[in-house]
Amino acid sequence: MAVVPESAAGPAVALLARLRGRTPMMVDQLAALVSAETPSSDVAACAAGIDVVRQIAAAVIGDAGELVVAEDRTHVRWRWPAPPGRRPIALIGHADTVWPTSTLTRWPFSVDAVAGIATGPGCFDMKAGIVQLLHAVSALDDRSGLEILITSDEEVGSPTSRLLIEDIGRAAAAALILEPSRDGALKIGRKGTGSYRLDVAGRAAHAGLEPEKGANALVALAEVIGRVGAIARPAAGTTVTPTLAAAGTAANVVPASAYVEIDVRVAEPPEADRVDRELRALATALPGTELTVSGRPNRPPMPLAASAALFELARGAADRLNLPAPDGVFVGGGSDGNFTAAVGCPTLDGLGAVGGGAHAEGEHVRIDSMPQRSALLAAIIERVRSGPMAVLTDLG
Ligand SMILES: [Zn+2]
Repeated sequence: MAVVPESAAGPAVALLARLRGRTPMMVDQLAALVSAETPSSDVAACAAGIDVVRQIAAAVIGDAGELVVAEDRTHVRWRWPAPPGRRPIALIGHADTVWPTSTLTRWPFSVDAVAGIATGPGCFDMKAGIVQLLHAVSALDDRSGLEILITSDEEVGSPTSRLLIEDIGRAAAAALILEPSRDGALKIGRKGTGSYRLDVAGRAAHAGLEPEKGANALVALAEVIGRVGAIARPAAGTTVTPTLAAAGTAANVVPASAYVEIDVRVAEPPEADRVDRELRALATALPGTELTVSGRPNRPPMPLAASAALFELARGAADRLNLPAPDGVFVGGGSDGNFTAAVGCPTLDGLGAVGGGAHAEGEHVRIDSMPQRSALLAAIIERVRSGPMAVLTDLG
């Protein structure tokens, strides 16, 4: 056990006690946020959800933030200028969820007081993280240098918020991402993601009368899919997975078209380009058929190096709060932390909720962890702000 001088640990422990006292308020605010459904595909519902975030922020930090409208999407941000010679600290989350409209009618927000958990669509990924973030900021004596961004298109690859996230990442000393933890562990690395689609065009013919006049797109595609697997390099963390496919128009017709969607994950940055190159070099072997490859890499990988310094700092902050030091995990799923890491910003992810079941029926949040995670975030912010990471060096 680490020995911490009482004088240094005292304020941190007092901060945790203060946030624990706010647990009922946090749960009420989580209920309000979960009860505003925000499927990524419904931009109006997402805008209404962002409005609920702003109402909660007005209550917790006394500031509803500024709306950012990008194409048809609404995001919200807060900015407090950094002191001279210091760089800002970015705090990033998303209000959209993977759950379709009306999921609440069969699965409303609820609290199981005995088990100490709250459940509802999107509570874990990542509405609890937003509530925790706002309370962390409210607990800080000094907000200078903080930049908060809550987006509404993360679950669909952040098409309208990516440029803003990258801009914030370029300027920031650190990006702290409020995605859920994995059993409390912080996310210290993430695979990069890509999505592709292979379309084969062939020639239709009656399957009974004159199949020889056709060019079977399905057969051609099946042969190509057999070669797609060889592009994967599991030892390097690269997976290339055919996921969704369809072909043909009727049971007695040689299919004139067939397609397959491919999910790509890479752990090493150069692998994204290699996979892209090799997928684009594919061609069908069957005469009369032709392959078209579409898609691209989406999120670049977030390497361990991007989080190493922040992870150590977070473990030290947990120690100061008398909380167990969090573990770190490298995960296959992407987040907006991939974008900040790729522009060179030190990034730590998984700072949000403790619980389980992201994107799964029954996702839930541990209520006692909400003030703990909130205090941990506040302590990390303090440490980054007062440490060497936030010093603005001359880039000229
Ligand atoms: Zn998420």
